[in-house]
Amino acid sequence: MPTRVIVPTIPGASFRLPPQLEGLRALAYNLYWAWHPRTRVIWSRIDRKTWNRHRNPIPVLAGPVDWSLLLDDTSFMAEVRELLRDFNRYLENGSDRWFVRHHASELPGPVAYFCAEYGLYESLGIYSGGLGVLAGDHMKTTSDMALPFIGVGLMYRRGYFHQTIDADGHQEHAYPDYDLSRLPVGRVQGRDGEPLKVTIALPGRDLQIAVWAVQVGRTPVILLDTDIPENDDADRPITHILYVRGREMRLHQELVLGVGGVRALRALGIDPAVWHLNEGHSAFLLAERAREFVATGVELDTAWDRVRRDSVFTIHTPVSAGNERFATDLVRQVAGPLLDGDGRAQTGGVPIDKVLEIGVGADGDPTQFDMTGFSLRLTNDANAVSQLHAATADTTWRGISPHPIRGVTNGIHVPSWMGNAMSETLAGELDADLDDLDEESDVGPFWNHLDTLSTAELWAAHQREKLELAIFARRRLRNQFARHGEAPTVLDAVESALDPDILTIGFARRFATYKRAGLLFSDLDRMARILWNEDRPVQVVFAGKAHPADRPGQQVIQEIFGRSRSELLRGRVFILEDYDMRIGRYLVAGVDVWLNNPRRPLEASGTSGMKAAMNGAVNVSVLDGWWDEGFVGDNGWAIGGREMNPDEGAQDWSDAQDLYRILEDDVVPRYYQRDADGLPTAWVDLMRRSMASTMWRFSTTRMLRDYVERMYLPAAEAARDTATAAASEAAERRNVSRAAIAANQGG
Ligand SMILES: *Cc1c(COP(=O)(O)O)cnc(C)c1O
Repeated sequence: MPTRVIVPTIPGASFRLPPQLEGLRALAYNLYWAWHPRTRVIWSRIDRKTWNRHRNPIPVLAGPVDWSLLLDDTSFMAEVRELLRDFNRYLENGSDRWFVRHHASELPGPVAYFCAEYGLYESLGIYSGGLGVLAGDHMKTTSDMALPFIGVGLMYRRGYFHQTIDADGHQEHAYPDYDLSRLPVGRVQGRDGEPLKVTIALPGRDLQIAVWAVQVGRTPVILLDTDIPENDDADRPITHILYVRGREMRLHQELVLGVGGVRALRALGIDPAVWHLNEGHSAFLLAERAREFVATGVELDTAWDRVRRDSVFTIHTPVSAGNERFATDLVRQVAGPLLDGDGRAQTGGVPIDKVLEIGVGADGDPTQFDMTGFSLRLTNDANAVSQLHAATADTTWRGISPHPIRGVTNGIHVPSWMGNAMSETLAGELDADLDDLDEESDVGPFWNHLDTLSTAELWAAHQREKLELAIFARRRLRNQFARHGEAPTVLDAVESALDPDILTIGFARRFATYKRAGLLFSDLDRMARILWNEDRPVQVVFAGKAHPADRPGQQVIQEIFGRSRSELLRGRVFILEDYDMRIGRYLVAGVDVWLNNPRRPLEASGTSGMKAAMNGAVNVSVLDGWWDEGFVGDNGWAIGGREMNPDEGAQDWSDAQDLYRILEDDVVPRYYQRDADGLPTAWVDLMRRSMASTMWRFSTTRMLRDYVERMYLPAAEAARDTATAAASEAAERRNVSRAAIAANQGG
């Protein structure tokens, strides 16, 4: 039975703690606190200012702190003792968890998961958006269900950009510069006790890669870093920036992730049973593993087969143009020596021409190396991230993929995304344990009992979340307005912005043009009438970044910003800067309606709507991505239908009309309809439906069960069969030769 993967680390910072509080060190260096809000309160109680500034406990504990006051505070000390007891129990008690109860004997080793980004918490800026947040939620859930697991990624010291918007609506980019000794990460210790380094050969030099780790509950994630003094100045920035723009640099990054990642696992003595490529960025791991087999004397074709057996792939982009590609000349030049052993393919390498041939894309262009095509051809199974996306992707990649692309619909890690007021209400009233959604209880899951929760209580919890959003957003908006030189009267007015009694619509996501963030403004007068209705007003909050290279996306920001400051809409439309996991948490918990109106079928899944739904917000969305399966008729609204007009302008206009109609005829009247006690009973019923219909189906708990049963276990089994077959073949060969020898001797 595989057990939890342990990766020994050397903490980034050294600081003293009072002996009675020494247990806090391990707690700080484990992102367990990222989904246990009570733990975060402890950091805030130790040093509120430092916690709020850094949103991570290392600077808090590193001090200076006046510990004597805290040591004398009996309620603080009792709380710490209780939290440490919960934390240690969480780490130790895997045996009652779903995976261990049902499947532990079927997986001979851990699953290794490769992804270019991880969204674990806002202060660990190694993610840009949906893919990273999904990967982070995946890690947390493997920990919750005690699935033996290890993540592999990159340690981006300059992460993803911080966004500000100037007074003209232009997006400005600023890249942070992380001090790793102030983050909850540690250098991985090699088996010799020294900080681990692995090496990959690049043309003319060896690139050294340092290995860091972040601990996510029971699950470690190792992070590769080229910014160390041993490397050439030109090589040190390889892992600095997420999805760096230059093609050659990006290729280097992906070689570090794929090849460096395999070598780091080997150096740690970790032998994965299954290799999961989350998106094609890590595809070189497949070539590296084939190279390993060849180096031990396995024939090349057999090596590809062996790699294929225990690897699985998740595709995240519905259109082929969205997939990562590199010019074959570039790959040959940069990766050739690394993979085919300096051109000495005969002596233990994979010929680069063969690699390039396997990586031809759906269009057959021989000058492009397609990371998705390469991954599909070399994996045991592949999945898309919603059922609709599976249909689209399967059509795109038919003929390339040796297996049909099936859907394993995304989910979210509920404890990470549920607002405190709501989760406390669910825990208090329905005994809900969000850490253990798949707990089997006599009364069935708590979300089937939401109707026993009184309307007044559910509404009060939601209104508390709305108020928290308003308080948070006002502070952010005041800073933004002050930076733009707005008048003191305007700054004063911000104090009453986002009144929680007003129906609030949220829209937050990357600003790419196909997401049509401006759809609400297709008919400005009609929109203004909806927003400014005297008895039944509506307000909208936007947030989102555009990729630094995406000019049209940046123009969308400018448009929204302009609207938010226009005479007509000012005071009802707001845009928050620097969308990240923190803003995301406030928004999904604190709005009434979550709006999503992409051009179908370009949204692979989308997960923000799931987060909103579980908090009781109601989705109003195009039937794209997850909503195509999530909408069940009575848990929100669908904009438009499933047929798309090839004339984009016409489609946009008709979707906008439908959106206005839904708001005017359905959403607004239902929201403002109050019963004798002044409660919006009909709306709260809808909130219950929204929560109950999504809590399980769109949780990462359900998603991980699907991954385990449909992807991981079959791959582990295929590998076992291959290994058994290979072993018996070898035995047969030995028998044959023994027989031959015997025959010889006999003769
Ligand atoms: C959830 C989340 C996303 C992904 O949501 P989409 O619906 O796919 O846009 C992106 N960014 C952040 C910060 C998130 O929390």
